Amino acid sequence: MFIEQMPDIIRKLYPSVLWRMGKNEKVIYLTFDDGPTAEVTHWILDKLNEFGIKATFFCIGNNAEKHPEILDEIRKNGHQVGIHGYSHVRGLYKKKDLYLDDIKKSQNIIKSNIFRPSHGRIYPSQARELKKLGYKVVLWDVITRDYDQDLTEEEVLEIAKKYSRNGSIVVFHDSLKAEKNMKYAFPMAVKYWLENGYTFKTL
Ligand SMILES: [Zn+2]
Repeated sequence: MFIEQMPDIIRKLYPSVLWRMGKNEKVIYLTFDDGPTAEVTHWILDKLNEFGIKATFFCIGNNAEKHPEILDEIRKNGHQVGIHGYSHVRGLYKKKDLYLDDIKKSQNIIKSNIFRPSHGRIYPSQARELKKLGYKVVLWDVITRDYDQDLTEEEVLEIAKKYSRNGSIVVFHDSLKAEKNMKYAFPMAVKYWLENGYTFKTL
């Protein structure tokens, strides 16, 4: 519970961070982190086109640098792009200047004003600082844990269904690590949400 859906007490420490959109709208905000990857991102773009829905991709600067053509393709297909740091290093958040440098380095490549911290790690002071710099910091309402090798595809799908609700910002990953679980759970979850009357928007 604590991992999949952060309790309100934690969310309140970060008033400037976006966790969830409108509680009264039957809308899911799909997000994909850690791409772009040649192996997985195209597959997701095809699926999104089949469903006729839009999503937000929080890209790693280092990956975007290697695959600028995929970054373009995401945008050309009408999806939204956000920054997910340059190097995805755990622990970087403890060093204020390096943290900001990492974001600036990605900004040069990705060019977006929405930011999701790597591993979801950010101090309230950093969130405030980024707000001053004009960034909207986005965390999530539901993390599907598609990257977790100890979970089956069905378990990941169950997480997506169980914790999602009106205005949920939901995280999947376009990474190799998450590929197996995500390729099963993401389309099945979208079918479930569509059957239950949800629509999809970008942030
Ligand atoms: Zn990530």
